Amino acid sequence: MGERDVRAAAVSAVDLVKVYGSGSAAVRALDGVSVAFGRAAFTAIMGPSGSGKSTLMHCLAGLDTATSGRVVLGGVEVTALSDVALTKVRLERVGFVFQSFNLLPELTAVENIRLPLELAGRAVERALFDRLATTLGIADRLGHRPAELSGGQQQRVALMRALLSRPEVVFADEPTGNLDSRSGAEVLGLLRASVRELGQTVVMVTHDPVAASYADRVVLLADGRLAGEVLDPTPDRVATALGHVGAGR
Ligand code: ADP
Repeated sequence: MGERDVRAAAVSAVDLVKVYGSGSAAVRALDGVSVAFGRAAFTAIMGPSGSGKSTLMHCLAGLDTATSGRVVLGGVEVTALSDVALTKVRLERVGFVFQSFNLLPELTAVENIRLPLELAGRAVERALFDRLATTLGIADRLGHRPAELSGGQQQRVALMRALLSRPEVVFADEPTGNLDSRSGAEVLGLLRASVRELGQTVVMVTHDPVAASYADRVVLLADGRLAGEVLDPTPDRVATALGHVGAGR
């Protein structure tokens, strides 16, 4: 991967190493991962449990720091930043969608959606706000608190919160893990639509071959290393590729 590819990608990792612990207890969660995630593309990260998926996503998103190697996000050398600068990057250039939705229970949907922009001191883009509320099907739910919304609605609120700041990358961590299959399919369709229609870059960790089939590309990890990829994935091809890297063993 050349330096030009690293810089042109929405986010990329170069020779990324993450070691937890030390001495005989050391775990090499990432063992030299180099991978670029293209702009306006939907990429899924898959691999057996313990292969380093969460660690890779956390390092890419600036939620965790690597032991060595580089992360470049939107042309910014994330690995060189101070904690304060890193917090700013997370707030302003990254969107998150978590399995557990992570909405603040005492705030209404619209207050949750606006919160990151308010913290960053940025104005809400009215036209984008209206378009997202309509496309995501939550325009009439905005005054409700999370507890008054279904899981699927809560995840669509979280998705709107992530998209409204036009982040460099939306990181989605098992976004359908707490949803029934129909709500899950809706959320995955909306993630894909954000890529097609808004040019959003999405990187999603999942263990589900059906969820991964919504992506443009699947990147496979095994034992903290890149173990292959599947372009234009179907559930069958993803399941086969996962079998080859030892999932389900
Ligand atoms: P995955 O998301 O693919 O299941 P992880 O990235 O969570 O894998 O974990 C990769 C490896 O790093 C595993 O062996 C795991 O036990 C280890 N690991 C993850 N987080 C920590 C931590 N905070 N402390 C020690 N070991 C960890």
